[in-house]
Amino acid sequence: MKLKLLAALLALAVTPAAAQQRSVSPTARPKLVIVISVDQFSADLFAEYRGLYTGGMRRLAQGVVFPAGYQSHAATETCPGHSTILTGDRPARTGIIANNWYDQGAARADKYVYCSEDERVPGSTSEHYTVSDLHLRVPTLGDLMQRADPRSRVVAVAGKDRAAVMMGGHNPTQRWYWGGRSFVSDRAGAREPGPVTQANNRIATALTRPRDAMALPDACQSRDRAIAVPGRATPVGTGRFARGENDRGAFRASPDFDREILTVAEGMRDEMRLGEGPATDLLIIGLSATDYIGHGFGTRGTEMCIQQLAMDRILGDFLQDLDREGVDYAVVLTADHGGIDLPERSAETGAPTAARTDPALNATRMGQELGRRLRLQGPVLLGDGPFGDMWIDRGLPARARARVLAEAVRAYRAHPQVQTVFTRAELAATPSPSGPPETWSLIQRARASFDPERSGDFYVVLKPRITPIADASRGSVATHGSIWDYDRRVPILFWRRGMTGFEQPLSVETVDIMPSLAGLIGLPLAPGSVDGRCLDLLAGPPTSCPN
Ligand code: ZN
Repeated sequence: MKLKLLAALLALAVTPAAAQQRSVSPTARPKLVIVISVDQFSADLFAEYRGLYTGGMRRLAQGVVFPAGYQSHAATETCPGHSTILTGDRPARTGIIANNWYDQGAARADKYVYCSEDERVPGSTSEHYTVSDLHLRVPTLGDLMQRADPRSRVVAVAGKDRAAVMMGGHNPTQRWYWGGRSFVSDRAGAREPGPVTQANNRIATALTRPRDAMALPDACQSRDRAIAVPGRATPVGTGRFARGENDRGAFRASPDFDREILTVAEGMRDEMRLGEGPATDLLIIGLSATDYIGHGFGTRGTEMCIQQLAMDRILGDFLQDLDREGVDYAVVLTADHGGIDLPERSAETGAPTAARTDPALNATRMGQELGRRLRLQGPVLLGDGPFGDMWIDRGLPARARARVLAEAVRAYRAHPQVQTVFTRAELAATPSPSGPPETWSLIQRARASFDPERSGDFYVVLKPRITPIADASRGSVATHGSIWDYDRRVPILFWRRGMTGFEQPLSVETVDIMPSLAGLIGLPLAPGSVDGRCLDLLAGPPTSCPN
């Protein structure tokens, strides 16, 4: 009795500063798991900025570090990448083969289907879609946590709906993402939580005013060099995020966007007391600004430098807030895919083979060309630009389709910017890959992105360093999505107070994250139920993985 009283008094005496120091056994199950995906955060970006981080990224880089994590599949886009992180499965199993695909059997006129939409809803189009988890074929960690204990809360906050949906799964307690003008939810009857309302008001007010340029940190001075982009009046490489009033695009491609996403996540943590309930909770965060900045300005100018240092700072603030509140959390940070700089800067700095695609490779153009040559009506070929999955127009008779397939594969293979082409039959005959992902052949990578129902009739692989944006005069100057390692490799960082850090330079996969977290929180997984394997975060004994 006396001991109990003493313990209670001691608990009362714990000040915020003392709470920060309170030791948590790293072998006990954490009460809160935080999963952060930084969109387009390549292993190359992590390596470039690792020595410059002083905040949250520095802390995570001192935990358990896998610098060679792989989004091992071929189609390194946002939706497939996010689908691997908390399902433990590659896209061949999650069903998320790309951000968009053609479903020529869809009941609506628009056959171009978005990965996280429900195209059956009247009025949903690939452009103005109804957000849904319909296409995700497997459960997520949060789904399994709630199945094991319905008291577990799963909250997803992200800059993109596809990040929030693919990581949040089929039945999150709360799911909020940027809808273009404000944070919104796809959950029926979701009442807007206070932190979301506050962020929406704050952003609306901020957007009514112009924003001054951000300061250029000393560490970014050496990157301050203008790079001309063909067709563009203004170069990239020297930007500092000044913007005019009501420029939502510029807001989204700036550190301000990530700050708002993290502020909402932190507010939701507080309001729902995540990590303080009877069961383990899951807080999922999708930071999207790095991707918009990479697309808009490339990966090696002042813009990305300012962003990386800002992200490090705001993540540090976020983790310190959790410390002050005495929450027992484990955190993992990774990315949905890597990325590559714009070819103009790459070509100027030691990579002369970097180039933009020939417009003739575009699926629409190729379809028109084949139609002329084979005297066929209709689009002939359907695809999303110059590479990846391509579909042959189902409106054509079977014999014409066979001719189009043969001719299209021949034409793509003959092009000097094309590495190879795989047909659906070749992919279907390829076993699912295993072993270290850097050893996989190209067809094995493409097989990991192959879904017999959704994939195209053939898959076009461009040569390395070929950026699939023929015309950069408007929109993106740089991108990702390729089969090559600059787009596949991402860091995977785990951190928990008291945990002994280590670095494993050998490759792992992002599908390993889910079984590793399941091991950490003691959630049993049926053998063989996921593609990934449990990584022992405690470098045992004791071990964080089941035997
Ligand atoms: Zn992405």
